[in-house]
Amino acid sequence: TGNSLKMVFRNHPENERIVRTTAAVFVSILDPTLEEISDFKTAVSEAVTNAIIHAYPESGGDIEAYFKRENKKITVIITDYGVGIKDVKKSMQPLYTTLHTQERSGMGFTFMEAFSDEITVKSEPGKGTTVKLIK
Ligand code: ATP
Ligand code: MG
Repeated sequence: TGNSLKMVFRNHPENERIVRTTAAVFVSILDPTLEEISDFKTAVSEAVTNAIIHAYPESGGDIEAYFKRENKKITVIITDYGVGIKDVKKSMQPLYTTLHTQERSGMGFTFMEAFSDEITVKSEPGKGTTVKLIK
């Protein structure tokens, strides 16, 4: 039978590690390989990092992470109520970034796509962003 878990956390950088680690523990019941765990953690980490660094550029804000397991299917939904994305299609292209600092390479969505079977991004400027990953 399935299981689900919801976390609500502030856009603090510490929380990336906490959510990434929780994601690994959540899937571990399915007996994944180390590579599968690592790929899954990467995808979750990219979505959470995006919400932490991009969603609330000028303030604090809450982010939600929802994990669901049905049989062997894992669904992850990361939701923020921040600035949103004007052009989702463009933002998902490899190397596209609006934060031109050394740490950003514009590859977050590309990794999420590579590591999941299905990705859905819904965003509205001024309202927020939802990223759904299915594996
Ligand atoms: P990297 O992930 O390689 O560090 P990045 O975060 O800029 O760099 P992506 O993760 O691919 O690259 O995201 C592309 C762009 O989409 C970001 O630069 C940002 O403009 C926008 N974006 C992504 N997630 C969000 C979000 N939750 N809220 C607002 N904007 C977002
Ligand atoms: Mg990113």
